[in-house]
Amino acid sequence: MCGITGYIGYRDAYPIIINGLQRLEYRGYDSAGLVLYDGNQINLAKTKGKVSDLIERVTNKEGHLGIGHTRWATHGVPNDINSHPHTSQSGNLVIVHNGIIENYDTIKKELINRGYIFHSDTDTEVLINLIEEVQKNNNVKLGKAVQIALNEVVGAYAIAVFDRRNPDEIVVARLGSPIAIGVGKDKKEFFIASDASPFIEYTKDAIYLDDEEMAIIRVGKDVKIRKIKDDSLVDADIQELQMNLEQIEKGGYEHFMLKEIYEQPRAIKDTYRGRLLRDEGIIKMAGVEDNMKKFLNADRIIIVACGTSWHAGLVAEYIFEEFSRIPVEVEYASEFRYRNPIITEKDVVIAISQSGETADTLAAIKLAKEKGAFVFGVCNVVGSSIARESHAGAYTHAGPEIGVASTKAFTTQITVLSLIALRLARAKGTMSSSDYRLHLQELELIPGKVEQALKVNDHVKEIAKEYLLSTNCLYLGRGYNFPVALEGALKLKEISYIHAEGYPAAEMKHGPIALIDDRMPVIVIAINRGHYEKTVSNIQEIKSRSGKIIAVVTEGDTTVKGIADHIIEIPDTEEAFSPLLTTIPLQLLSYHIAVMRNCNVDQPRNLAKSVTVE
Ligand code: GLU
Repeated sequence: MCGITGYIGYRDAYPIIINGLQRLEYRGYDSAGLVLYDGNQINLAKTKGKVSDLIERVTNKEGHLGIGHTRWATHGVPNDINSHPHTSQSGNLVIVHNGIIENYDTIKKELINRGYIFHSDTDTEVLINLIEEVQKNNNVKLGKAVQIALNEVVGAYAIAVFDRRNPDEIVVARLGSPIAIGVGKDKKEFFIASDASPFIEYTKDAIYLDDEEMAIIRVGKDVKIRKIKDDSLVDADIQELQMNLEQIEKGGYEHFMLKEIYEQPRAIKDTYRGRLLRDEGIIKMAGVEDNMKKFLNADRIIIVACGTSWHAGLVAEYIFEEFSRIPVEVEYASEFRYRNPIITEKDVVIAISQSGETADTLAAIKLAKEKGAFVFGVCNVVGSSIARESHAGAYTHAGPEIGVASTKAFTTQITVLSLIALRLARAKGTMSSSDYRLHLQELELIPGKVEQALKVNDHVKEIAKEYLLSTNCLYLGRGYNFPVALEGALKLKEISYIHAEGYPAAEMKHGPIALIDDRMPVIVIAINRGHYEKTVSNIQEIKSRSGKIIAVVTEGDTTVKGIADHIIEIPDTEEAFSPLLTTIPLQLLSYHIAVMRNCNVDQPRNLAKSVTVE
């Protein structure tokens, strides 16, 4: 889900592609590669690592046609062979791809039967060979072959492809991942990129493909855009770029954190895509399926994690115990590893880490493995150390997270863990089939509801103005939303440097209530599921002591409205999935307060994105 660049025209393609890849580095990646056509042959260079490593690999820099790629591995570990570009069996077709081809396995088997040999573990190599097979069987040009092939695949993609036998043409397509086309003067040259940043100094004219569109780009000709499904022609809408470089990289958002907050509907969808098959009423996760016995025989599940991932683990504790009736313990990895924990071969240890490199979590799973436990990793970065050290696992397909304060990692971790809990509930028979179906259906609706929850942004911004000078803040929640209170407090601490505490709402009476006065903002999650009335009583108690109440409630709520100073309404959902929604206004609140306090939101002081030291 990272970067694509490309060039076709009269200039040397090499520097344009390399500079472009460097501009896209902000998206986060693990490998880089490019291909150039010098009029004679195609020259390929690719490597695990950074664009700077790629530069050292390139021997032949000739050519006016080329495509480049930064890979954020989803299928196959980051290594030289899995890096893009990938060529077809004949060597004629070359592709770069961002995204995931979900049904690659079935297509791959079919192609192997037809004599194709695969060199990488990627879904991308399957796609380029499928295009070649279509081209051969139907005797069609590249554009048509791409279209037919894309109609056979399920998944998400942005691709750029060319055929060395026809070097005046590049074909691009998009579904789910962005592609922009820069149109050069008199159409004598064209640029391709995941966003406009790689070509902004060459042209201000850009075409942004919409989902399910493909374009055939030919030097000297108009760009031909078609709908992939029904082949209908689409007018090329050439827009004039008005943004500066930085704005483009952040997709028009002021900060990466805000961009990532807004990416959550897509990130959650990508995380359950291909796993939650509602029509068939099943959840398919290879890592769980292949190790079902381990899960079913487990005495308990121990979740090890740090920071935000630990909070996702706490939410999962409620979900696993409720859905699959397996006892769960959630441990700070740093505590667990140093206290000679009791672990047996009948324990399943789930390690959660966005980067997959968190030093304490890594050490915790090594310890668990030594003691014979089965280790399951939940990471965002493919091929990361924790992913490699685990016996099995499931990736959160959140895409790179750049903002230091985790947002989409949290919600996608909860999504993956919910899928596992539901799958186990089904296998163990701890959930009725109607409840199970209801939860599948509801989980599928979450991206849309997150979208709706994001609409509170302006309202939250107004609230933030009133509290930006606070020095302390209290966050309260019950049940599934107690961990969300912890996470909300952590976000505020991390980026705005305001001291904040998260508490189970009922615990307030055992201490924190002493802190409440008319200068203390208390953020209460009071959705109408679970122990709503009890939470309402807690709100009354705060009000009686003049605390300022910001309440996150279910839309249409009237009770809390009459008591709280501010209410933020979010859509209703099953209680177990409510953290995916209640966390949204809390992320936005900390974001706006931090911005108004002039804090460096994306790189808060003293913090590192991936904590690789103990
Ligand atoms: N699924 C492809 C791979 O793993 C593309 C990943 C990307 O978006 O960079 O190679």
